Amino acid sequence: MTPALTAFQLARRYGRSWALRDCSFEVPPGAVAALIGPNGAGKTTLIEIAVGLLQPSEGRISVFGEPVRGESRALLSRVGFVAQEAPLYRSFTVEDMLNVGRHLNPHWDDSLARDRLRRLSIPLDRTCGRLSGGQQAQVALTLAVAKRPELLILDEPVARLDPLARREFLESLMEIVAGGDLTVLLSSHVISDLERVSDHLVVLSEGTILLTGATERLLAEHLVLSGPREDIARLAQRCTVVDARTSERQMTLLVRRPESLMDPSITVSGIDLEELVLAYLRRRPLPHVAVQTDLVASAS
Ligand code: ATP
Repeated sequence: MTPALTAFQLARRYGRSWALRDCSFEVPPGAVAALIGPNGAGKTTLIEIAVGLLQPSEGRISVFGEPVRGESRALLSRVGFVAQEAPLYRSFTVEDMLNVGRHLNPHWDDSLARDRLRRLSIPLDRTCGRLSGGQQAQVALTLAVAKRPELLILDEPVARLDPLARREFLESLMEIVAGGDLTVLLSSHVISDLERVSDHLVVLSEGTILLTGATERLLAEHLVLSGPREDIARLAQRCTVVDARTSERQMTLLVRRPESLMDPSITVSGIDLEELVLAYLRRRPLPHVAVQTDLVASAS
């Protein structure tokens, strides 16, 4: 099946510094993909390239197999986009915004928009500037969804919301996703926001992709090993070490794809999404530990 979004060796330079470098990943159709990375990681740059607002310096990106070139009208009708600041005209009423949406979008679903706003108790006659941050985010999401896009891209949609509004916003997004074949890419630097709603992961740091794939598979592929330093260091020779933490006697590793690890002195446990992402962002190398084998433990 054609991926909803494909980036291949994507790079973007601002002057002499690179905001993105060699970024390759896919978002399968129907996925809810979390684009996670710290401030300045390159999330907005990547998203703006995906929606045709910014040109890549190198590489290419396509939406449903169609290369993104500038603001192609045909492509943009398939993509709903909500920028970081939930852009609404502050002096327009919500009703005015619906009229703008209807005017600009060929597949506009007016009843979907009105039903949604009614359920959220957002008054249509209020100017957008007088709505709360959460209400503004919901109006921006409603406008994007009423376009009936196949791919919905949201840049830090919950950044300005309080914890309850965050929860409500993400739950309402899930309702939208459950109702159709929509693919979603949403960014955040707060992992816990996206943990419950996403099933695909793209971790970005300093402009490069550290980890990407189906969340469930990635979680199953990683394990935490802890135990005596020497025993763990010996095991590390058979694993890809992502992150290492040591004390005087003990060592804890996050590893990928270990072979069978039958050793009673070692504790093996699974990992949750937040720990996994943080481990990739930290990436502390394996320290040298002398082990009693022919091989020497080394960081991969
Ligand atoms: P945040 O979470 O803080 O919004 P981000 O992950 O969205 O960050 P970007 O806004 O894409 O990151 O920025 C990535 C890098 O590119 C940063 O180092 C930023 O300073 C730089 N950058 C972004 N826009 C420009 C610009 N117009 N001119 C120069 N540098 C820029």
